[in-house]
Amino acid sequence: MEDTIVRAIAAGGYVRAFACRTTNTVEEARRLHNMSPVVTVAMGRLLTGGVMMGAMMKMADDRLTIRIQSQGPIEMMLVTADAAGHVKGFAKNPQVIVPNKNGHLDVAGAVGLGVLSVIKDTGLREPYVGDTILVTSEIGDDLTNYFAESEQVPSSVGLGVRMNKDATVAAAGGFIVQLMPGAGEELTLRLENRLRTMPQITDLLEQGKTPEDILQIILGPEGLEILDRMPASWHCGCSRARMRTGLISLGKKELQSMIDDGKPIEVNCQFCGKSYEFPVNELEAMKQEAVKA
Ligand SMILES: [Zn+2]
Repeated sequence: MEDTIVRAIAAGGYVRAFACRTTNTVEEARRLHNMSPVVTVAMGRLLTGGVMMGAMMKMADDRLTIRIQSQGPIEMMLVTADAAGHVKGFAKNPQVIVPNKNGHLDVAGAVGLGVLSVIKDTGLREPYVGDTILVTSEIGDDLTNYFAESEQVPSSVGLGVRMNKDATVAAAGGFIVQLMPGAGEELTLRLENRLRTMPQITDLLEQGKTPEDILQIILGPEGLEILDRMPASWHCGCSRARMRTGLISLGKKELQSMIDDGKPIEVNCQFCGKSYEFPVNELEAMKQEAVKA
C-alpha cells in the first residue's frame, strides 16, 4: 500500500481534518539513519505530524520544520516537510535505547522534557516561529498543545508507529482534527467523545484501514467530505549544487582554512547521509565566489 495524505472537512466546514499513512516513509527514515525502535517511533510520530502540517501550507515552495530540543537521551529531533507530501528528518542520537515502560517503548523517556519549535518558511517574509514546552513528550499531545498555544486552533493530533519484532516498521500514520471558529459546543463534545473511544491509530493501520477509513470513524457522522488525497513520501532533495552553495555561504575565511588543510572536504547530508566530496581546487574556485569575508 502507498503512503498517502487525505485532506477533508466535516460539519459544513466547522471541522478540518487530515489523515495519513506513513508506514513506508517511516521505514525509510529508520533504514537511512539506522534508528533504534524507540527512536523510530519518536521520529515516526514527528515525521507523520510534520507531513500533515506541511500539507496545511499553501504554496509548493513553503517549508515547515518541527524541531524538538530536549533533555532525554535523543537530545534533538528535526523534521522538515513541504506542501507536496515530502518529508525528511533526523535525530541527534538515532541509536538510543531506554528501558521499556509498562511493556511499551518509552518514547516520553527517550525524548524527555524540552521545547517544540515550529518554523514556517513561506518565502515571503520572516519565517514564523512558534515555541511551546513539551507537555507529555509523546509528540501527538505536544503538537495538540502547540496548535492550542501558538495557533489558537483547538485540535486533536493522533500519531502512531508500531514496530515489527525484527525492528522494522509494521505501521505508521495519524490524523489531525481541528475545530474552526464557530464550531458549537455539541459538535465539540461529540468529537471529544468519539476521539476518546475510538481504537488506537496503530491498531487501525495494522488492520489495513486507510486514511479515509480513519477519518470516517472520527467524522463519518458529521458529514465528512474528502477534499483531496496525495502521496506522502520520504524525500531529501539534497544535491551537490546545494551543498556547494552551503559551503560558499560559510565565507572566504572558513573556505581558506579548508584549503590550508590541503585535503578534499567531505560533506554529509544530515537528512539522508549522502556524502559529497569537494577537492581543494574546487574550494579555491568557491572562495572566489564567496561574498562573505
Ligand atoms: Zn540528503
